[in-house]
Amino acid sequence: MTGFVTPDRDLLMGWLEEKDPRKIELILNEAYRIKEETIGTKVYLRGLIELSNRCSKDCYYCGIRASNKLVERYELNDEQVYECAMFAWKARYGSLVLQAGERSGPRFTSRVTKLVKGIKEMTNGELGITLSLGEQEREVYQEWFDAGAHRYLLRIESSNPDLYKKIHPNNEKHSWEKRVNAIRNLISAGYQTGTGIMIGLPFQTTRDLADDLLFIRDIGVHMVGMGPYLRHSQTPLGKMVHDNQDLSLTLMMVALLRHLMPKINIAATTAMQVIDPFGREKAVMAGANIIMPNMTISEVRKNYQIYENKPGIEDDAAISKGKLEENLQKMGIRIGWAEWGDSKAF
Ligand code: SF4
Repeated sequence: MTGFVTPDRDLLMGWLEEKDPRKIELILNEAYRIKEETIGTKVYLRGLIELSNRCSKDCYYCGIRASNKLVERYELNDEQVYECAMFAWKARYGSLVLQAGERSGPRFTSRVTKLVKGIKEMTNGELGITLSLGEQEREVYQEWFDAGAHRYLLRIESSNPDLYKKIHPNNEKHSWEKRVNAIRNLISAGYQTGTGIMIGLPFQTTRDLADDLLFIRDIGVHMVGMGPYLRHSQTPLGKMVHDNQDLSLTLMMVALLRHLMPKINIAATTAMQVIDPFGREKAVMAGANIIMPNMTISEVRKNYQIYENKPGIEDDAAISKGKLEENLQKMGIRIGWAEWGDSKAF
């Protein structure tokens, strides 16, 4: 792997289209080596709480989009959220992620503020908090940051505005430009900011993927969570004939991103595990360093399915933890227990 000094679109496209298994292995191994050299080989955990599946948006690929009337909507109460947080703290996860469909308004904003403060208090400030609550006004981002959240995930989904338009309704609520602006606002509010994309979308080209990598590098985020696009049959995009069972492209994207941005945090996402039971662990071997075990109570897990066949929907937090530990152990991957594992790119 030479020539990574100034990778351009053509070079990245060439690597993404590489078919020679020996060359592919070389790129993946080199990504692992870069990770080892720059940020170490530990994996950091962020326990995931799916706060609510209510969403005001209608993304064409998402199973919990507002128009899907077949979904049973839920919202965890404060007690349930705090219970999950205590589980994460006692399990020495180091951090948690509070995720929900996108909603706005003072009621939602102040509830999140209260929860963030509450979690900080009950865990003596030891648990790191990441939010994944969509596009919000800059003041809202600031309020949540001041309450104690210090990381935020907002995927751009695709860096190509035309492709973005094809997978979202074409209206103000689903504006690519607004989303990019929101990412910039997060960075300026002081968050360790994460973005990400879907890999293998209908209409997506290798050129789009190469551009996604360059977009992620150029916007200057500190964390990335990307995964394979997976269908949900009750969505407009999911009704198209398109099934993505290819983890190799996702692994290559992870590896190339590690080459491009040696110090960032890269998540091995749950979607990878749908395609391959060891998908997340393979991503770790290709340069990823973050895993987000689900801690959502089992009663509602089935209702938070952006894509179908989400793994572990019958499991509770303890079972998810046990399975993950076992898998990581099998692959010889070390966990940074009780560590925040902040992005070294921050
Ligand atoms: S992807 Fe997010 S914003 Fe879009 S419909 Fe699903 S939960 Fe809502």
